[in-house]
Amino acid sequence: MNLYEMTAHELHELLASKKISAVELTENLYARIDARESEIGAYLELTRAQALESAKAVDAKISGGETLAPLEGIPCAIKDNICTKGIKTTCASKILENFVPPYDATVITKLRAQNPVILGKLNMDEFAMGGSTENSAYHLTKNPWDVTRVPGGSSGGSAAAVASGEAIFTLGSDTGGSIRQPASFCGVVGFKPTYGRVSRYGLVAFASSLDQIGPLTRDVTDCANVLNAICGLDEMDSTSTAAPVPDFTKSLKVDVQGLKIGLPKEYFVAGLDKEVEDAVISATEVYEKLGAKIVEISLPHTEYAIATYYIIAPAEAATNLERYDGVSYGARVDGVDVVDMMTNTRTEKFGEEVKRRIMIGNYALSAGYYDAYYLKALKVRTLIQKDFTDAFENVDLILTPTTPNPAFKLGEMVNNPLQMYLQDICTVPLNLAGLPGISIPCGFTKDLLPIGFQLIGRALDEETILRAAFTFEQTQNSGVKIPKP
Ligand code: GLN
Repeated sequence: MNLYEMTAHELHELLASKKISAVELTENLYARIDARESEIGAYLELTRAQALESAKAVDAKISGGETLAPLEGIPCAIKDNICTKGIKTTCASKILENFVPPYDATVITKLRAQNPVILGKLNMDEFAMGGSTENSAYHLTKNPWDVTRVPGGSSGGSAAAVASGEAIFTLGSDTGGSIRQPASFCGVVGFKPTYGRVSRYGLVAFASSLDQIGPLTRDVTDCANVLNAICGLDEMDSTSTAAPVPDFTKSLKVDVQGLKIGLPKEYFVAGLDKEVEDAVISATEVYEKLGAKIVEISLPHTEYAIATYYIIAPAEAATNLERYDGVSYGARVDGVDVVDMMTNTRTEKFGEEVKRRIMIGNYALSAGYYDAYYLKALKVRTLIQKDFTDAFENVDLILTPTTPNPAFKLGEMVNNPLQMYLQDICTVPLNLAGLPGISIPCGFTKDLLPIGFQLIGRALDEETILRAAFTFEQTQNSGVKIPKP
């Protein structure tokens, strides 16, 4: 097997036993990037020089006989809305084209404590708004399983890089599904932690009450190791939780005996692709055979989730994106006076989708409409949260498809934002409720497109999700597959 196809935990063994060096591993990954990147387009920026320096430092530790942390020397990459000191962070937007953060996001500081090798920054939908990575102001990212299709989004580069062997693991962000949906489209594991589990300090804000950073990995073991590295209270993020962080690798057991898993009937309705439905139902049968109890449940306010999300997320985005005014941050386009300068800057430097969200958000927040839209959406959000609270009185986990269909064609939905928004139906309810969720690969369509299912857990109960995900992965022996070539 090629090094670039392996999991972080397998590579850790090879590094620790001196079978490979970190420099060799890093070069292997860059060779793969050089071979595939012109077709896949997962990266916005490569950081070869720094990466080789980090790899050399790890090799020095190895030859000095020091014990390695699980992610030490492992080649990874970071979504371009996570601040990296001295490395451009553009959010795939022209307005931040030359923005070089003077500090690292907390997740980067935490990751760096384990000395992984950061290969570069990854493509995404501009400011994480979108579900196909087609809203990047720079270039498209292709799905490694079928390059005529999207990788999903907004963390499309993060998912495509892992799937194509251009990174061993990546970080993404998830506001309404942006880790889980691309993970599902690209056949990798993607985890959105409980709101507050991972610090948002240094994550460029889209919708602050929904955003959360999480890992995209080849398997569940890697996912647990990355969560161990990035979770925890941070005084720089007042919404981060003080709840103790367990050792997530302890959850990696093959055991779902007696676990109660709910299937919400509202997620298995018309519009769900037949092949996706069949694969997800087969996954529930696997759990049943392994001793879990499958019960039908209801999350009655699901039908309002998209409408609620597409008020709250744009409202928060409109507020957060006010700071790009040509003065404090980023690009400036001159004008005859200050208002003209601001107008020109924002008109020229923001993409269509970002402008659409700013307009929707400001409309929903404006006097006279606030009560009818924003306040109403907040109330419905509470009802959606309550649906989950009620459901979790009777079940330990909730299982759903991650997406209503497999990866769609490039260009298929770019002119139809509403159809694109409907793609988020299975993923946004969790963000509204602040709950953790994972997407796990569970097979392929007849055209060889990956299918994923989603497991949702109680707040702060990432462990039960990981245990059930690990059980599925191990017993189905899905192994790690990288598409040809
Ligand atoms: N597709 C959703 C949106 O466009 C989710 C994005 C995200 O999670 N960042 O808002």
